[in-house]
Order: sequence, then C-alpha cells, then structure tokens
Amino acid sequence: KAGQLYENLNAELKAAGVEEEAQLVKTGCFGFCEQGPIVKILPDETFYVKVKPEDAKEIVAEHIVKGRPVDRLIYKEPSSDKTPVDTDNIGFYRKQFRIVLRNCAVINPEIIDEYIARDGYGALEKALFEMSPDDVLQEIKDSGLRGRGGAGFPTGTKWGFTKGVEADQKYIVCNADEGDPGAYMDRSVLEGDPHSVLEAMAIAGYTVGASKGFIYIRAEYPLAIDRLNLAIAQAKEYGLLGDNILGTDFSFDIELRLGAGAFVCGEETALLASIEGKRGMPIPRPPFPAVKGLWGKPTVINNVETWANIPVILLKGAKWFNSIGTETSKGTKVFALTGKINNSGLIEVPMGTTLREIIFDIGGGIAGGKPFKAAQTGGPSGGCITPQFLDTPIDYESLMSIGSMMGSGGMIVMDEDDCMIDVTKFYLEFTVDESCGKCAPCRIGGRTCYNILDRISKGKGEVEDLQKLKDIGHAMRKASLCGLGQTAPNPVMSTMKYFEDEYKAHIEDNK
Ligand code: SF4
Repeated sequence: KAGQLYENLNAELKAAGVEEEAQLVKTGCFGFCEQGPIVKILPDETFYVKVKPEDAKEIVAEHIVKGRPVDRLIYKEPSSDKTPVDTDNIGFYRKQFRIVLRNCAVINPEIIDEYIARDGYGALEKALFEMSPDDVLQEIKDSGLRGRGGAGFPTGTKWGFTKGVEADQKYIVCNADEGDPGAYMDRSVLEGDPHSVLEAMAIAGYTVGASKGFIYIRAEYPLAIDRLNLAIAQAKEYGLLGDNILGTDFSFDIELRLGAGAFVCGEETALLASIEGKRGMPIPRPPFPAVKGLWGKPTVINNVETWANIPVILLKGAKWFNSIGTETSKGTKVFALTGKINNSGLIEVPMGTTLREIIFDIGGGIAGGKPFKAAQTGGPSGGCITPQFLDTPIDYESLMSIGSMMGSGGMIVMDEDDCMIDVTKFYLEFTVDESCGKCAPCRIGGRTCYNILDRISKGKGEVEDLQKLKDIGHAMRKASLCGLGQTAPNPVMSTMKYFEDEYKAHIEDNK
C-alpha cells in the first residue's frame, strides 16, 4: 500500500504541476506501525495516518496546492481527540529518545547527501583526523555502550581485545541476522539509515586495525539488502569506503553475506562459520571471535543497533551518551512493540524506562481495554514480565533479576485471553525447529520439553511433568553448547515461576 501511495502522490504532484515546489521523499520507518502508512508534510509537521493510495489526490489538491490540511487524515490522540501540535507531542513519541533511529523517517536512505547533511560520516572524519585509534577506543569504553544483540557485553572491551592482538588481518562484522519472532529493529535501521552502520564499521576498522568488514544479513530482508548495496556503492564513490578513505592511508571495504534464515546463525561462531562458507553451527568458546574469529583472525562482531550508536557517541561524546540510561546500562534501547497493544510499533527509549511507560504511555495501553497479563522480552530466549514488575526500570540487570532478558529487543504484550502454556509452547517449538542438533541437551532436551508442554496444553499432563520441565530446563541451561540451547528453557522457567497456577489448572483438567 505504501508503495502505491508513493506512486500516486508522485503522479498527483506532477499532474498539479507542483513537483518542483513540493519534494516527495521516501523515508524509512516512522515506527508508528499501527497508524501506517504515514505521510508527514513539512514544514508544518502535519501527520497523516492510515493513508490509502486513493487519498493522494485529496492531499495534493487540498494541502499542497491550496494549503488546507485534510482533517480526516490527521492523527488525533484517542484520549482527547485533539491534534498534537507537532510529532514529538504525540503520545507514542513523547517519551521516546532517538539515537539509533535518529534518521529513520527523516532522511531518504537512498541518498548519501541526506545522511551527510545530518552529520553523517562526520564521526568517521573526526576519528581519522582528530583522534588516534586509542582515543576512539577510550571514547567507546567511556560511553558505557553495551552490545544490543542480547548479551550486553561492553562494546569497548570487545574492541579492545581485537585491538590488542597482533595479526596480519583483522575483520569487522555486523550481525544483521535478526531472527526473533516479532522483532524487526535491525531491519528498520538498515532500511532507514544504512550509512550509520557502514560509518560505524569503518570507525571500528580504524580503531582495531581492520581493513575488511562483512555484513551478515538474512536473505528475507530484500529492501535492507538493496539499500545496503546502494549505500556501499555511494560511500565508495564519495571516498568514504574503499582505498585511502578521505585521502588518508586508512582503507576499509565492506561486503554483504546473505544468510538463509537459520536462527542459530545469529550466534556469533555459527555466523562466522556461515560467512566462511561452512554450515552455520556454533563451536565452543573460548577462544572468542575477538581474538580468533573469521578465518582464525581477530574479529569484532556487533549487531546493527550497537553499530548505529557509534557515530553519535563519537560526535556527541562519551559523557553525553553516558548521561543517558541507568547506572549499568547506558543509552537507549530499541524495542519492537507488538501483541495486544494499541500502538504497536518500533520504539526507542532511554534505558531505565519502565514497562508501564512503554505499554501505557507509548503503547497506548492494552487493546480493547483488557487487563495486562504479561510482556515477553527477549523473544524465544527471554521470559515474561508480569504486572507486579510494571514499574521496574528496564535495563540488562533488572530484566535478568526478574527472570527475563533484554534480548535483541522484541517485546510482545499479552492480555488475559492469552494462555501462557500456549505462548510458551510457541517459543519452544521455534527453538526446537531452529536447534542445529549439534549437542544433546538442546537437541533432546528441547524436544522433550516441547512434548511435555504439548501434553499439558491438551489437558493430558501429569503433576510430575512440572518437575521434569524444571529438571530438563536446568540441564539445558548448564550443558548446552551455545546460547540458543542455554536460553531455550527461559520461557518455560519464567512462565512456570509466574503462572504455575495456569500449568496446574491444565493438569487438573486431566483428572
Ligand atoms: Fe546447536 Fe542447540 Fe547445541 Fe546450540 S545448543 S550448538 S543450537 S544443538
């Protein structure tokens, strides 16, 4: 629909003879998916929502030509029926803080000049001409940035490991193998602001002494792939990638590698194996990729969201970044907010924002006004957050302490109609399907847990099944080779902890 809308707007602007005065810009995601397709008119900030292709004629004829906004298409807050003065005043955006998504829905991601006009590649220039590699490393360390892919490992420390190793070749890798059900943060960043990732990877290359980068991206993201390829070509044309960047003796090149959609390839050792052309299966760590990674060479791997933070940190400084967030988790976090929520969409909030703010202020509350039951964070590796934790500030540590995890940023909201056993079964089915089968705890444990859950969900469970689930879950956590198997029991353990009554009620049905 958005594509057709764009075509229609283009045709109407031409038909009205105003295509020179009114520039039509195709942007990345606005984040407010619930209200899409969105058309924003500048400079007056009119925010049109749920626009249909056939609305193009009226928008052009009335608003663009006659200066009369089309009231029926303007976004109004459900609570007040009022039109917010500007986009930042819309409830969905008011508590958000955009670092990673700074350019999404602002620039045309297919035009490098638009990225440059918003300080794009300024951080790379600053690094190359004003900072030594040690300076850059210290800045990233001081910022407190932690990896956004799930584990939350300090980014500067990781870069420091790679920098500290002597090697004839080092690599920089972007993990864009986003695979959690319901998660689309990385896709949106790559579609809406691909240069931010390229710039960040080049900065890392300069810092650790690497001349080659790879972006491992799933083939199911064709638009992101197209925009990355275009962005790489444009950056090379502008001397911002390739040999002798900006006339210096630093050279750095980036290639794409397409993944076939295996969830396990998001695990970094499996991802590296896949880039090397081997089957994507994890291997034990240590050695960690930072010291022995791609083709045995030191390799920095970060995910898309982590990379997108880097240019801003260098431009605005570690102190600025460090002032945002909580004591242990700095900056912001992007979440894909989905499920039984009024305002589903892509959001970015400072670390430390509470779940209540996310669900009720940004998300507009539970669809249909039903009671909130739980939110699943961290996808199939995470756990559920229940109503008693609505006011817990969200960061890496707090989520762990309540049995969930940050994960890469999927957040699925559930209401009273959702059966937690069915939800858990869904996640476990996913991890069982995606297990590579290399180690027995994951291969056999996951399948056994799934079979037990299936029994329980069909009212055929036994009381002893609960203990069996716990025992197998503990064994999988301790003995599985990689993160997939180690975290696969999390949804089971978490729902058994907070919704034990629901499990017991299903088992009671069997009597
Ligand atoms: Fe493969 Fe699962 Fe073992 Fe990871 S934990 S290596 S996905 S079988």
